[in-house]
Amino acid sequence: MKYSKLTGQRYKEKPAEATCASHIFMLRGGYMRQVANGIYTLMLPAQRIVAKIEQIIREEMNAIDGQEIKMPVVIPRELWEESGRYNEIGVELLRMNDRYGHGLTLGMTHEEVVVHLARTEAKSYKDYPFMLYQIQTKFRDEARSRGGLIRVREFTMKDAYSFHTSQEDLERYYKVMARAYERIFARIGIPEVVRVQSDSGMMGGKVADEYMLLCEVGEDTIVTCSNCNYLANREVGIGIIEDYPETEKPIEKVYTPNTKSIEDVTNLLKIAPSRTAKSVFYKTAQGALVLALIRGDLEVNELKLSKIFKSELVFANDDEIRAAGAIPGFASGIGLKNCTIIADPSVANSNNLVAGSNEQDYHIYNFNLRRDVPNAKLVDIAMARNGDTCPICSQGKLVLKRGVEVGQIFQLGTRYTTSMKMTYTDLDNTEKTPIMGCYGIGVGRNLACIAEARHDAKGIFWPITIAPWQVQINVLNLDNGNLKEVAEKLYLELTQQGLEVIYDDRNLPAGQQFAEADLLGVPLRLVISPRNMEKGQIEWKVRTTGESGFIDLTAAVNFVNEWVKNELAKINASCSLQQ
Ligand code: ATP
Ligand code: MG
Repeated sequence: MKYSKLTGQRYKEKPAEATCASHIFMLRGGYMRQVANGIYTLMLPAQRIVAKIEQIIREEMNAIDGQEIKMPVVIPRELWEESGRYNEIGVELLRMNDRYGHGLTLGMTHEEVVVHLARTEAKSYKDYPFMLYQIQTKFRDEARSRGGLIRVREFTMKDAYSFHTSQEDLERYYKVMARAYERIFARIGIPEVVRVQSDSGMMGGKVADEYMLLCEVGEDTIVTCSNCNYLANREVGIGIIEDYPETEKPIEKVYTPNTKSIEDVTNLLKIAPSRTAKSVFYKTAQGALVLALIRGDLEVNELKLSKIFKSELVFANDDEIRAAGAIPGFASGIGLKNCTIIADPSVANSNNLVAGSNEQDYHIYNFNLRRDVPNAKLVDIAMARNGDTCPICSQGKLVLKRGVEVGQIFQLGTRYTTSMKMTYTDLDNTEKTPIMGCYGIGVGRNLACIAEARHDAKGIFWPITIAPWQVQINVLNLDNGNLKEVAEKLYLELTQQGLEVIYDDRNLPAGQQFAEADLLGVPLRLVISPRNMEKGQIEWKVRTTGESGFIDLTAAVNFVNEWVKNELAKINASCSLQQ
């Protein structure tokens, strides 16, 4: 590729709308342009990287017996109705009508479509197990697109779906897939991606893991341990806290006027928040009232809570709280009616806490959950905190970090095969329901994450496996003597070797050429200049390390070939270690 033929403006200024490195550099470097909120056109450099990431994913999926298929982006409403998700999923699912008034949706995930296919194609136990995958456009009407390609509305995803006749077989394959994922992240140049226990969210199912790139721009919070390798999404993370077991004392009322929060109460009574019980009221989608009781120093993890009720939860209003017999601001679980009470173990494991009295302007001393609210259901609903003790090694302290989810794997179970009536005939001639797994990787988000992990102040440095080009040729003073001829010849020879070369043939000042080269992040740069050519030499420079040197022009092709081979071998060696 010659620069003179490359469409796209590259510029120095930081784009006002960009908030993270990948977004800034991909706009400045002419990789992409926004078309609408969360919708982008990818230009040649980005498209070349995408093609390579996709190819690596494809190779790894094929290696574990994946069959590449292509399902439609436009999905009839009926399929979502069959699975029951048409009403479960909110406005993220884009819905529309065709000219006949038939309801259509834009695919945001393809469990329904893949089951629609598989249920007619895999009728016998002999057809199992199998895995189907695609690399296809998804549309999700996300509330907040952000960070360039990190969170968009239209994006390409590799989504894979496996079908099994037993849970054991699904678990076996889940491990195979996890290894393939590790290889993919290593091959695309972000081997530091970690696997994190997670919630299975809207997909349903039980076991799920997320692959996270730990970095500041992430929206997810990851619980890590200072001592062991415990890693969990904060949505499901657990922290061990200090309890205060004491002999139960009798309840004593205490006058606490104008105390609306735990902070007010602890200030007034001069006690620590950990010596209080906090009451938070919610309402389920069906309108049922829920009281979450938790120790005053902790926060309710609403995802954990909503999983108990299999429903989204909203805060209850004062009237609803009063209707249950509680007084807002002075509420507790004592004497409530028509309210399900969920208590976090933190409240049960500490005694003689300060709690609401359900009487205006009064709290009580010596609240003891087991004695005072015996009907409370004990479930972990706490948000893990920095400094809590690790639940796995019991020694390390939890450290919260930010991360971006680059991929996810789920053991779906029979959530879709049951609702969509998919069966196969087993060896004993009975009809059985297959068990599914599903596995996603966002292509564009990975590209952005590589840029987040691999850049400096001047631009991105792409790993050799996915770089838009492997080597770049710059010429200082193209008009000088035969430099142009030398450059053209080198460009041709390298290209003929099968190397991917971009050649800056525009005769621009050195500063501008190098600034653009830094944005493009090509791993190896060759610089042809009049001074070095006098010695028959050219300069080489590695984008990542800044390492540089000189070689004879005659040895250049060999040098580049060897260098690229070596770089590729380094990455491949690191992957085979993980097998
Ligand atoms: P998130 O929590 O970030 O919204 P998700 O749990 O909705 O992600 P999945 O449904 O598991 O994501 O999708 C699989 C993969 O697709 C994700 O791991 C991510 O790489 C990618 N992905 C999901 N949503 C987006 C998006 N809005 N923009 C870009 N990539 C996305
Ligand atoms: Mg999402």
